Amino acid sequence: SDAKPRYKKILLKMSGEVLMGDALFGIDTATIDAVAQDIKEVVDAGVELCLVVGGGNIFRGVSLAGKGMDRANADYMGMLATVMNALALQGALEKAGVDTRVQSAIPMDAVCEPYIRRRAQRHIEKGRVVIFAAGLGAPFFTTDTPAALRTAEMGCDALFKGTSVDGVYTADPKKDPSARRYETLSYQDVLAQDLRVMDASAIALMRDNNVPIVVFSIRERGNFMKVLQGEGVFTTIA
Ligand code: UDP
Repeated sequence: SDAKPRYKKILLKMSGEVLMGDALFGIDTATIDAVAQDIKEVVDAGVELCLVVGGGNIFRGVSLAGKGMDRANADYMGMLATVMNALALQGALEKAGVDTRVQSAIPMDAVCEPYIRRRAQRHIEKGRVVIFAAGLGAPFFTTDTPAALRTAEMGCDALFKGTSVDGVYTADPKKDPSARRYETLSYQDVLAQDLRVMDASAIALMRDNNVPIVVFSIRERGNFMKVLQGEGVFTTIA
């Protein structure tokens, strides 16, 4: 459709798993190219966009911490995994003709820019897609909270969470056929019912700043733009 996008400036948070495609690990190039096309569609529609990508397709801190490794050290490995995904996304986006910058919360001068808030804002104003890597640069977090923090810092109108499920359900739809999808939820519903859409700290930050969270499936091609136009299937938390 040619409906206007509902938001002017957004942050898209993708879990690393989205980049695996049907594989069990790592990055699937066909999938990442397809995601890049979906992002390009949104950028071409004039939406200002920044990205946070997780690292779960490569490494999650808790996996080794559970086997006796120091948790903080394992989490730094997880943050480095998000940098790998950010570079992969940057490559796919640039190939699709989208201007990008990667900014890392852990300075890595030879690889990307360090995170500088005002510089990131300027990039976004110029129509570049800024990919925020390395989370908060601090252990004991996942990428949900940095996604919410950057959403607030960049002054985005909404936080889009692209996952493999098309919204928030009353139960896991893969396990329970009677599970129903919520159209809308309040922040309080999510927190009180412990619905595990995103980490509680991320939900609370969005609640305190009055920024809606849109949960949708990024696996279906073309869906990102549709959801942005208010069409298709998604759950809004506000
Ligand atoms: N991580 C961290 N601090 C942050 C962001 C990420 O320690 O601010 C680490 C943590 O170990 C996490 C890993 O990086 O498990 C990968 O991020 P995440 O689990 O959010 O990836 P996703 O599930 O979204 O793919």
